[in-house]
Amino acid sequence: MFKQVIILKRKPGSMILALLLLPTLCLWGSNINYPQEQAVMSYALANRIIVVDAGHGGYDPGAIGQGKTLEKDITLAISTKLCRTLSQAGALVIALREDDNDLAGDDFSGSLSERKRKDLAVRVAMAEANKADIFISIHANADVSPRWSGAQTFYNKNSAEAEKIATAIQDELTRILRNTTRKAKTGSYYITDKTDMAAVIVEVGFLSNPNEEKLLNSEEYQDKVVFAIFSGIVNSQLENDEPI
Ligand SMILES: [Zn+2]
Repeated sequence: MFKQVIILKRKPGSMILALLLLPTLCLWGSNINYPQEQAVMSYALANRIIVVDAGHGGYDPGAIGQGKTLEKDITLAISTKLCRTLSQAGALVIALREDDNDLAGDDFSGSLSERKRKDLAVRVAMAEANKADIFISIHANADVSPRWSGAQTFYNKNSAEAEKIATAIQDELTRILRNTTRKAKTGSYYITDKTDMAAVIVEVGFLSNPNEEKLLNSEEYQDKVVFAIFSGIVNSQLENDEPI
């Protein structure tokens, strides 16, 4: 495994920038056996600025599964792995959250709903300040009924690029996870509504479905989800490049 990743950290309200000095064709650890064909095409991500947003955090757990899994923990685990993979492929990665804190700031004193709004506003502002080419927000879904399952992407309806990326990620989630027939859809989220960036929400599965909750807690399944998201982003960017 290669570890040539430099993490430049700043305080919340600024940014965390991870960049790779020595791009490598090796994506990550040796315990992944499924095809790594995207490794040889990862030049498509070179110097792309990609913001990875681990949904929720701190006081805000997000959805809670029947087995007490917290959405904020799943989003952080998957986002951390995704940041590493994208960095290793040469992208300039900005991780909005690297620990169990929201981004409203320690000194914020409003109500919980005001705090949530501030947290989301800071996430969007950080992405815009860093002129992100791609904004990927990781979430997990939930419903009152346990029957629903399947990962699904949502995108900013004002961005053709977002639609392309969300569709490419959905295709790879379908191909690699083999347990979802969902389609990429436009979504009305704070992050997709408040910006014209190529913003994509990835709902990695339903925590309200006991089987999917169990899967999402598994390191191996998380790695598959990460590879699918990564592979979809690569596919979406290939045609943006000039022919070699
Ligand atoms: Zn969420």
